[in-house]
Amino acid sequence: MSASFVGSVVGTALFGIVLAVGNPAALGELRVAADFPGGSAEVLSIDSEAAEIEICPALQFDRGWPCWWYFRIDGANAGKLIRVTVRANQAEYRQGQQLAPHWALPKRAAISTDNRNWVQTDAAVLEADRITYQLTAPAETFWLAWGPPYQLADAEALLADVAGKTETAQRYELAKTRDGRPVHALRVGPPDAKTAVWLQARQHAWESGSSWVADGFLRWVASDDPAAIRLRQTTEIHFVPIMDVDNVERGAGGKDSTPRDHNRDWDDAPGYPEVAGAQREIKKLVADGRLRVFLDLHNPGPKDHRPFYFGPSDYDRLPEPTRRDYDRFLEVSLHRIAEPSGFCAAYRFSSYIKTEEERNRVSRYWVARQGGPEVVSLTLETSWNTPDGTVPGYRQVGMGLAETLAEFLERP
Ligand SMILES: [Zn+2]
Repeated sequence: MSASFVGSVVGTALFGIVLAVGNPAALGELRVAADFPGGSAEVLSIDSEAAEIEICPALQFDRGWPCWWYFRIDGANAGKLIRVTVRANQAEYRQGQQLAPHWALPKRAAISTDNRNWVQTDAAVLEADRITYQLTAPAETFWLAWGPPYQLADAEALLADVAGKTETAQRYELAKTRDGRPVHALRVGPPDAKTAVWLQARQHAWESGSSWVADGFLRWVASDDPAAIRLRQTTEIHFVPIMDVDNVERGAGGKDSTPRDHNRDWDDAPGYPEVAGAQREIKKLVADGRLRVFLDLHNPGPKDHRPFYFGPSDYDRLPEPTRRDYDRFLEVSLHRIAEPSGFCAAYRFSSYIKTEEERNRVSRYWVARQGGPEVVSLTLETSWNTPDGTVPGYRQVGMGLAETLAEFLERP
């Protein structure tokens, strides 16, 4: 399916070039391209005269939900109205599975004139299976995406930046993916610290916001805030901004991919090398008796308008001190992550997962079993379908999470 997607985009681009060469009047011809890291669009129609484009997210069979889209528009009339319709892709993304439309249709899209700095569009009108963004074209060339993209190059730049200015920060390669890409990781703090923390993002490729939350987290950890300095002196933090690098770079959704969802791969025989790599490192921290907190970052459903944690579904059966730790972590989060969208005051549990066997293969459960009563193991879900689903909004949540961690560890 990805071949036909590439074909359609390349075909459109070539058509535009041929027209432009043959006919100067055709320079105003609109074109769509998605042949870059993370790009995803299948062109359904382009009407240059009416300034209307219709696309759907590209389907990459067995590569997860077709909800992520990210493409470049060339040939726009700067300052003029342009209508971009995104239609949900309801073809089967794996045997017998179709995706409900609303995952692909954010109320506000991300827009950029340099493919680096992203802002939100105005709210668009949602119909059953499509949404139309009415834009004033900000330039002849601009980019549109489901949300602010965060690619391997962004992770690379962040880690290089932090490693360059933070004394105890050390980069390492967690794994090579199945397709041979590097999974970048960083550790900060003394390697013999009594306390260790693991934070990872983006097991689900479409959830770009989770990488931006991670970005905000690490920037605070590496900052001059006295609490951050103390945290770096007392705690070793492992940080992985993108786990499913392959699907992130291919522009695939990742969630529910075949043979296994990335976040249901946490058993004794994981299929993803980066899951195996994380398990190996986490087991070492547990064996040393140092792992205290595990955080796995995600984005939730379109109607979840406040961030929340998935916590332990065996909460009622936890030993009293462990339950107190979970309570305290949530309590501190309510204060520290109050901005920009508030925070859900109660844990949610993964009751939507049908069997216990499958739930046990979710990262937070695997880590909780490995780590035992000393470890707080949580999945953070940060809302995206709101005015705060932006780079600054996500970073603010990440900063609040880092402050939460520092306060939690400082006051036992
Ligand atoms: Zn997820």
